[in-house]
Amino acid sequence: MSDCIFCKIADGKIPAAAVYEDGEMLCFKDINPAAPVHLLLIPKTHFDSLAHAAPEHEGLLGRMLLKVPQIAEQHGLAGGFKTQINTGKGGGQEVFHLHIHILGTPAQAV
Ligand code: 5GP
Ligand code: ZN
Repeated sequence: MSDCIFCKIADGKIPAAAVYEDGEMLCFKDINPAAPVHLLLIPKTHFDSLAHAAPEHEGLLGRMLLKVPQIAEQHGLAGGFKTQINTGKGGGQEVFHLHIHILGTPAQAV
């Protein structure tokens, strides 16, 4: 989507502090962190939200969820972390490109 900020980040048209990338997903630091570690994991393909996910996204969503604890561990969150997927205006979603929030405090900083 040409006017989607996360598509632009995925395309490298807008800079972001990337921490993980492969052929189908990108993880970067949230620009307005709500925790010492606050990352966003997005699919490179655009769909608006979890409510817009289609059967063709089943494998991708599974691979994204499996990637979350790996990324979290790499950022000091082996002791635990929070994940959040806001869906729709009523769910507090502000950017309409599916994303998984990964939030936590590294153990040594507790
Ligand atoms: P939502 O409320 O849609 O679940 O979360 C959107 C998140 O995207 C917010 O936490 C916000 O800080 C983050 N965000 C919005 N615009 C940008 C941006 O241009 N770059 C980065 N890195 N994060 C952004
Ligand atoms: Zn998008």
